[in-house]
Amino acid sequence: RVRVRFAPSPTGPLHIGGVRTALFNYLFAKKHGGDFILRIEDTDQNRYVEGAEQYIIDALNWCGLTFDEGPGIKGDFGPYRQSERKHLYKQYVEELIANGKAYYAFDTAEKLDAHRKDHEAKGKTFIYNWHNRLKLDNSLSLMPEDVQKRLDEGEDYVVRFLTPPDEKLHLKDIVRGTIEIDTNVLDDKVLFKSDGMPTYHLANIVDDHLMEITHVIRGEEWLPSLALHQQLYDAFGWNAPEFAHLPLIMKPVGKGKLSKRDGEKMGFPVFPLSWNESIGYKEEGYFSEAVVNFLALLGWNPGTEQEIFSLEELVETFSLQRVNKSGARFDPDKTKWYNQQYLQTKSDAELAKLYVDILKQKSISVDEKADDYLEKVVGLIKERAVFVADFWDLSDYFFLAPTSYNEKAVKKQWKEGTPESLNRLVSVLKGISDFSSENVETTVKAWIGKEELSFGKVMPPLRLVIVGDMKGPHLFDIMAMIGKEDSIARIQKAIT
Ligand code: GLU
Repeated sequence: RVRVRFAPSPTGPLHIGGVRTALFNYLFAKKHGGDFILRIEDTDQNRYVEGAEQYIIDALNWCGLTFDEGPGIKGDFGPYRQSERKHLYKQYVEELIANGKAYYAFDTAEKLDAHRKDHEAKGKTFIYNWHNRLKLDNSLSLMPEDVQKRLDEGEDYVVRFLTPPDEKLHLKDIVRGTIEIDTNVLDDKVLFKSDGMPTYHLANIVDDHLMEITHVIRGEEWLPSLALHQQLYDAFGWNAPEFAHLPLIMKPVGKGKLSKRDGEKMGFPVFPLSWNESIGYKEEGYFSEAVVNFLALLGWNPGTEQEIFSLEELVETFSLQRVNKSGARFDPDKTKWYNQQYLQTKSDAELAKLYVDILKQKSISVDEKADDYLEKVVGLIKERAVFVADFWDLSDYFFLAPTSYNEKAVKKQWKEGTPESLNRLVSVLKGISDFSSENVETTVKAWIGKEELSFGKVMPPLRLVIVGDMKGPHLFDIMAMIGKEDSIARIQKAIT
């Protein structure tokens, strides 16, 4: 059975890159009828941020990425918060030490820093492994009495993985194929600290093993950890899961990874939900389906021209084989395009409900309007909208008579005889009993013909006085909507 996990650390709000990782895990699990697990990796107490875990859960829920096991959901492999699994890890570290795969090290932070600086000064990178292991102030399992003495004295320690020298590792990744790594370039990474807490590496491996994870799907920034992880599985004698590292999400322009700053500079969100003063996709008025859809195409392609996918269609179409190796450039305009597409697929009734909140803020009372008035308005203007929030600018004249007129348009459209012809038009409109769009259109057109006026002389100024601007859908639709009385009042107000 396929089992995958999304394993964020609650160090702050989830970046959309994180949501993309969760999404790919979800799609892969559902595609194979497997389980999608949420595991909170909170072993680093210094980086723990209050509220971040709830944020992660809320964000996944908003996107519709329901997890089968995780905090707050019963499962056979819990608890799903690493801080609640603390007691589990020590025995595994001890097993590694006993087997000579890991060792105690007692270097102080100052010493390590000094070594690092010393290397930097010589233009070298400081790698903590067999090169310098013995030169540093640590003891290897090679000197067991010394280690025991220092431990007994309560000296601070860490446990490090003992990287073997001169070995070639062949690491397998579903996206990247086989990667060869020389162990001489690898650090002896810290696995455990004297405060009794495991580091990310150890906890991650142990939990993936205990939770029977079959596939690890995560961001490319974790690729450098793969060598250690594979070695840890080998050291324990466990079967490693398969790995797939997802390409980075790149800035809209220029080089490098998409960051929070890019969003701030260019005015688009990088978080699914708002967090402190950072605004999220939800609050910006994006539909979660649109967000999920554009994230799916960041680093994956269906191999066809299709761009619009529901979550179900994504589940059906998704495969790790079609995940790209190279970075995926983030395109904020495309995210808007997606939202526009999804907005068109919503029913007028659904959109009208969302619009009510905005109208309330504008102190517009919709109660006295006919039930379907809002739905009709929305139906007439929605194709021009990217967000529900755009509705007001596109349709304010359906609710309020214009209080001013677009000056440029006035200059262009308001000619000498305009008030007189509009005045005569008022009498014509007064005579219409069925004020439907078609009826008004036929009557007005007939009148234009009879008076030997031109369409171009009547229609633009008429739009201007009804709408206040040259925008909007078919003018007779608007007039029918606001009704006879209001149409006439607007014309009269403009010509007197
Ligand atoms: N806790 C890691 C993170 O924050 C998990 C990485 C992994 O999936 O192994 O992304």
